[in-house]
Amino acid sequence: MREGIAILGATGSIGASTLDVAARHPERFRVVGLSAHRDVERLAALCEQHRPDYAALADATRAPELEARLAAAGLDTRVMVGPQGLMELAALSEVDVVMAAIVGAAGLQPTLAAVRAGKRVLLANKESLVMAGPLFMREVRERGVTLLPIDSEHNAVFQCMPPDFDRGLDSVGVSKVLLTASGGPFREATADSLKAVTPEQACAHPNWSMGRKISVDSATLMNKGLEVIEAHWLFDVPPERIEVVVHPQSVIHSLVAYTDGSVLAQLGNPDMRTPIAHAMAWPERIEAGVAPLDLVEVARLDFQAADKVRFPCLRLAYEAMEAGGTATAVLNAANEVAVAAFLDEGLAFTAIPLVIEETLAALGTAPADDLETVVAWDRQAREHATSLLARHGRRRHTA
Ligand code: NDP
Repeated sequence: MREGIAILGATGSIGASTLDVAARHPERFRVVGLSAHRDVERLAALCEQHRPDYAALADATRAPELEARLAAAGLDTRVMVGPQGLMELAALSEVDVVMAAIVGAAGLQPTLAAVRAGKRVLLANKESLVMAGPLFMREVRERGVTLLPIDSEHNAVFQCMPPDFDRGLDSVGVSKVLLTASGGPFREATADSLKAVTPEQACAHPNWSMGRKISVDSATLMNKGLEVIEAHWLFDVPPERIEVVVHPQSVIHSLVAYTDGSVLAQLGNPDMRTPIAHAMAWPERIEAGVAPLDLVEVARLDFQAADKVRFPCLRLAYEAMEAGGTATAVLNAANEVAVAAFLDEGLAFTAIPLVIEETLAALGTAPADDLETVVAWDRQAREHATSLLARHGRRRHTA
């Protein structure tokens, strides 16, 4: 029987890689639903190509345009609208597997809807765990949901962990999780030169092709910070047992260290179709269209310590995780505001951590026991971070 898959964030980079893997295995996967925020043109083109039964658009104002395009293409794809439409798509009875690949906080509620509906969830939207780790994992456990990580690092850790890691790391002999980081495009840059970084430079990642927000996060190392928090919740590993190692070649995607001195690593070319195919077929393996790894061509694997002074976002993420409660939702929200302002050329690259640090200091933390609290703190943090932009902001480039 073919598995029905819904892709939240189908028009993005992870969405494209997921559709590529699904199209390689039509005997195995049926695309039931696709979602986007407001890129109607791309969503309509994907519907023509993959013929899903449903298409969901978060921005309701653009739904008539989508409906018109689908009708003109002779498709009877049903359109679902607004954030509610995304949640309904994730919970459809025809859907077995949900790829959660919306970027940012907007991914939390549709991803939770998939969990609550008992779907197999392939988690790319790390922000869900950063914002609401304890309650998200509680729902996963209570509903017996299979949660498979898509982030290449967490997928690698998952592959290197013993299958019964949920018995507790000490019980299964795991001493440490090592997350690798490419170091981003500014690994060798001086602190001073970072002030003048442009969005184009920040988005030009040396090894990975990704959406703009995560590309900037990779350049500030906030992405690694978010991943440390994600690993903490996914594998129930305390912060002091998660180490970040800079590995510029992005060939080792992460490692697990055991008490007997063994260290297991997962290697591969930097192509998101590997972790996506792994999670889509798990526990089996399927072809992903990824070139085989040629170790002789790679020739060398380098490692260095992460620099939390030049890249304060990594430090801020560890601090927010230690503070717990709503602090990581605040971290995430302030980061989203600051990154959007940077991409809009309204904020310097080096002001991103300043906005986040000041927002964290101003708001403090509180217990994050329910979704309403998380959503309220996310909103407050956005308001506060936005109010800081005027002070930290810079004038737009004119030409
Ligand atoms: P992209 O920016 O390429 O795509 C984002 C997707 O989310 C698009 O489909 C977009 O729709 C949709 N979207 C954006 N805002 C909203 C909203 N408010 N409501 C509903 N949908 C929305 O992102 P990526 O594919 O790069 O990343 C997606 C997630 O995967 C992120 O959480 C990222 O951290 C994670 N990830 C990505 C990796 C990568 O290699 N790209 C690697 C590991 C993790 P539209 O096109 O209409 O704007």
